[in-house]
Amino acid sequence: MLIDQYGRKLDYLRLSVTDRCNFRCYYCMPEEGIDFARRADLMSFDEMLQLSSVFCGLGVSKIRITGGEPFLRAGIMPFLKKLNVAGGLSEITVTSNGTLSERYQAELLQMGIRRINISLDSLTRERFAQITRRDSFESVYAGIFKLLDDGFDIKLNCVVAENKNIQDIIPFVELTRHHQLSVRFLEEMPFNGNSHKSAGVLWDHRQIYDHISAHYNEIIPMFNTVSSTSVNYRISGYKGTFGIIPSFSRTFCGTCNRIRLSATGDLRTCLYGPPVLNLRDLLRSGKPQAILEQEILAAVSRRVRDGFEAEALSGGQVSTSMSALGG
Ligand code: SAM
Ligand code: SF4
Repeated sequence: MLIDQYGRKLDYLRLSVTDRCNFRCYYCMPEEGIDFARRADLMSFDEMLQLSSVFCGLGVSKIRITGGEPFLRAGIMPFLKKLNVAGGLSEITVTSNGTLSERYQAELLQMGIRRINISLDSLTRERFAQITRRDSFESVYAGIFKLLDDGFDIKLNCVVAENKNIQDIIPFVELTRHHQLSVRFLEEMPFNGNSHKSAGVLWDHRQIYDHISAHYNEIIPMFNTVSSTSVNYRISGYKGTFGIIPSFSRTFCGTCNRIRLSATGDLRTCLYGPPVLNLRDLLRSGKPQAILEQEILAAVSRRVRDGFEAEALSGGQVSTSMSALGG
C-alpha cells in the first residue's frame, strides 16, 4: 500500500505517455513548444507496463492516461489493450484534447474505457484558436457529441482566465442543460513551460462560483467523493453537472490520492513539487522489482503535506509545462 506520512492512501496513478502535443495551449506551453524529451529518454510502452504492474502491486487501482496528447504517441492503442488485460486495475481513464478521439473511440469502447476527460476552454472557434493556437474547434466539438452518442462518460476541462474565456463560463453551464456531461472549471496553474515565479490567480474557485451563482436562482450541490478535486454542482432541471477545481488554491490536498509518472519516468508525489525519483533509470539499471517497490514506498512516505509545501521545495520557481508533468 502506498500511504504517506499523513495517512493518505495513493491509489490513483496519472501516467503520461508523451510530452508532445499537437496543440499549444497558452497556459501549458509556449507557441514554439517546449524542449521535448528525446525519444531515447521516453519510457517504452513495455517499461510503462512493467511499472504499472509494480504500482498495481502497491495498491494502485486506477490509472489515468495523459500527456501531452496521449493519442499522438504511436502504439498507444496496443499499449492500452495490454494494460487493460494485465489485471489489477478497476479502471483506466484518459485525458485528451479531443482531436483524435474519433479515430479511436470504437476501440476504446471495446476495451471498456468509457470515461474520457476532454480539454475545451471555449465554445467559440475564435477563442478556441486563441487559447490553443490551433483552429480545431469544430472537429473537437463535434467529436465530443460523437463520444456522448456512443455512451462515453465525458468531462470537459475548462481552464478559466481573465481576457481569455470568461464569456464562455455561462454557455458551458448551459451546455449541461440538455447534455449529460460534466463541465469542470479549473483555476489556471503556473505550469506553462516558461520559467517564472508562481503568481496568484485572478479567477479563483470562489470567483468562478460567484460568477455562476449570479446567473442562476438554484444551484444544487452534489455529493463529492472523498478524493475528488472538483466541487460539483447541478442547475435544477439540467441533465449534466458542473464542477469547480481549485487547482491553484489547492484546497483538496488533505485527501489527495494521486501520484504522477511522467513519460520520462519522473515520479511526483505532488503536482507542485519536484520529481522524487526517476523510475525509468532504476528500471534500466536492472534493479529488481523489490528494490523498485522499496524506492517508491520510501518516496511516498516522504510526501509533503500539501501543494504549497511542495512548491516551496522548488523555491517557488516554476518552469515545467503541464505537458511534461503529466496533467
Ligand atoms: N493534452 C491533453 C489535454 O489537454 O487534455 C492531456 C494533457 S493536459 C496537460 C491535461 C490537463 O491539464 C488539461 O485539462 C489541461 O487543460 C490542463 N492544464 C494544462 N496546463 C494547465 C495550467 N497551466 N493550469 C491549469 N490546467 C492546465
Ligand atoms: Fe496540449 Fe493538453 Fe497542453 Fe493543451 S493542455 S498544449 S492540449 S498537452
